[in-house]
Amino acid sequence: MNEYDSNRIYDTVKKIGYEKTETYEDANCYLLNTCHIRDKAKEKVYHEIGRVKKIFRSKSKPLVIVAGCVAQAEHEEMLKREPYIDLVLGPQAYHKINDTILNYQKKKYKEEETEFDAIAKFEYLSKIKNNTNKVSSFLTIQEGCDKFCNFCVVPYTRGPEYSRPFNQILDEAKQLVDSGSKEIILLGQNVNAYDFEGLRLSNLILELEKFPSLKRIRYMTSHPNDMTDDLINVYKNSKKLMPMVHLPVQSGSDRILKLMNRKHTIKEYLEIFNKLKRINPKIEFSSDFIIAYPEESESDLNNTLALIDKINFINSFSFIFSPRPGTAASSLPIIDKKVSLERLEITQKKLFENQIKMNKSLENTIINVLVENRMEDKSKLFGRSEYMTSVLFSGNDELIGKIVKVKILNSNKNTLFGELADQTDKKVA
Ligand code: SF4
Repeated sequence: MNEYDSNRIYDTVKKIGYEKTETYEDANCYLLNTCHIRDKAKEKVYHEIGRVKKIFRSKSKPLVIVAGCVAQAEHEEMLKREPYIDLVLGPQAYHKINDTILNYQKKKYKEEETEFDAIAKFEYLSKIKNNTNKVSSFLTIQEGCDKFCNFCVVPYTRGPEYSRPFNQILDEAKQLVDSGSKEIILLGQNVNAYDFEGLRLSNLILELEKFPSLKRIRYMTSHPNDMTDDLINVYKNSKKLMPMVHLPVQSGSDRILKLMNRKHTIKEYLEIFNKLKRINPKIEFSSDFIIAYPEESESDLNNTLALIDKINFINSFSFIFSPRPGTAASSLPIIDKKVSLERLEITQKKLFENQIKMNKSLENTIINVLVENRMEDKSKLFGRSEYMTSVLFSGNDELIGKIVKVKILNSNKNTLFGELADQTDKKVA
């Protein structure tokens, strides 16, 4: 979501004359868009500001703005702790960036804007064209969360659940498609909770499906409780919704899910999995796991491993629990570091085995690849399979933006290597 936000911030500040620079040294304004999800996020921000300070030691100081979720969590504390920072903007306030900058230039008055004002933000942004011209583009449809999982900082940094107006999203999607996007990834902290006057994520996908030059639709990140039948049923007929469901489960143990306040059980998760598999056996799952959550026992971990075996997740994110200040789980006693690391290792071994197995199974088959760009070293084209796996192969630039058939010759954990196949061949894996 920060990538989407950064692009929108850039679309906004262009209106008051800012352009991106190639190097840090050339900048007269430095904006750091921060994420609070990862460990030690706050310290990383101050470290980064220290780096900027060094770069500009013998030059005139740039305007320094910290935006995003760390800004939201820290607000005026940032201005006190690091006087090199001039402005602080929370994720629901970046529509105010131009006024805040202009005000600062006039009065040199340091400000923090951290109100939750998602309606005003999207209203303002809807009047500014989305200039992203990538083959695969992000589009935020929903922000914030009301679920309050005990480990998560999102409800505090992004605020309550907010769904953007349906037509506002379609207008922005049209801008993206008109400027060349072939894939749209719908974003939200709780994307499948999207609900604008009764219109749900399923309605949105079905509307987007009608854009002729849009080839692929994805969405992330979902909560199992919002995986309603209308959304599940879209997988029945949709040609454009990709058969890859990213559905975070966090743990395979009901006891831990309860302690996490996830509000769903493993049985309910499996029901969703089974329903989707019945609709389309090609559908695969990916997930997020928190390992060594406070009180996790060996038996809880074994339940997680058993779930991984059952679902065969093909691509997942897994981390050791680390407390986020201000969350309900932040004061709980944490599990010994060595034990936590061992558990993470065991879990990742299993997850990576699945990933490698899935990629190996595609060798010597032909798959559909959406070509996104040429790699930086110019050697190969880069694209993605229907399951989001990176695919590298040789070809000319005219293929960028097209879905082509690629024969997979080789693979590793994260990448498929192939060659352009006969495009008339109808058989794809
Ligand atoms: S549902 Fe997701 S975003 Fe909301 S609190 Fe839980 S983990 Fe955080």
